[in-house]
Amino acid sequence: MAESSGFPLAEPGLWVERTSARSFPAGRPALFLDRDGTINVDTGYPDDAAAMVLRDGVAPVIEAANQHGIPVVVVTNQSGIARGYFGWDAFARVNKRVLDLLGERNAFVDMVLACAYHEAGAGPLAIADHPMRKPNPGMLLEAGRRLELDLRRSLIVGDKTADMEAGRRAGLQQGWLVDCDASAMGRLSVSPLRDATDLKGLLTAIRSL
Ligand SMILES: [Mg+2]
Repeated sequence: MAESSGFPLAEPGLWVERTSARSFPAGRPALFLDRDGTINVDTGYPDDAAAMVLRDGVAPVIEAANQHGIPVVVVTNQSGIARGYFGWDAFARVNKRVLDLLGERNAFVDMVLACAYHEAGAGPLAIADHPMRKPNPGMLLEAGRRLELDLRRSLIVGDKTADMEAGRRAGLQQGWLVDCDASAMGRLSVSPLRDATDLKGLLTAIRSL
């Protein structure tokens, strides 16, 4: 992996970091999660580590995946970097804080991918419709290659349609969308994640993988 400024950047606008020492056999499904608005409360282009708060219910979901040998992969769009709102250094601090908060709840992430590209940016990050930026599936496909995942059986949890669309384009069949109604997007069935009953359904899906 190419390193830049000490950060795990696979290319100028793509962070790819292995965040655990756990190894997985080939062919496992993964639990993919969006970060802002899904794992942590979305403060709007989060750049302040001290302001990070976990959303209710997400730590047990990740813990369940940990216990069932399911790799946990965070896939996050970070256009705030392309837009010049903050840099990879702020992303690193915020992301570490989010992972630390999860760790305090016995929930551990295995890989983090973040895409900084956005058409509104400047310089090398100003790229429209970059293949790594959700709703494109690039980050999921990249994790799939690196961890030798079974993408079809993998799950995605997000708070935006773009998260579900990225899952669909990567070949996933099950998604959970925060605070939304159930729907279908092609072969991807989208379940709502609104209350304790929905959460129980997601935990059951993880345990049955
Ligand atoms: Mg989000």
